[in-house]
Amino acid sequence: MKQTTLVHPSAFCWNPRCPDYGKLKLGNIRRFGRTQAGTQRYQCRTCNGTFVETIGTVFYGRHHCQEIIIECLALLAERNSLAAIHRVKGVKEETVVAWLRLAAQHVECIEAILLANYRLTRAQLDALWIYVGHKGEKGGARKRTSAAPSGVA
Ligand SMILES: [Zn+2]
Repeated sequence: MKQTTLVHPSAFCWNPRCPDYGKLKLGNIRRFGRTQAGTQRYQCRTCNGTFVETIGTVFYGRHHCQEIIIECLALLAERNSLAAIHRVKGVKEETVVAWLRLAAQHVECIEAILLANYRLTRAQLDALWIYVGHKGEKGGARKRTSAAPSGVA
């Protein structure tokens, strides 16, 4: 059985360059005030990096809960077909693809969540991004609209 409880974003460091990136229960994360918008901010004691509860905003307004979304992405990373995910999770294929596209715009955030919650390998994660034509694009705050694929190789 799959574990269904999603690890909270505050449970690990989100900084990919941090030695404790994505590792759980190290006690390296502490609350670190709030942003101007009132979002809880956290700090990693290992790298002194700060972050907010990003995962909540990535899938904000989606009709499925974050756990289902992340689980479907993990299934996809484990080489399950969209048809299989539909059978197992009851989520339409185009819905999963839409989530994946959204996730690809927040690669670091989603990878941190997947690494913390599932035993996925680097290769599996890379394959996930290749799936949507984002070859592991890092640190991309780059806006991407499907209507104007300018310069996308
Ligand atoms: Zn850190």
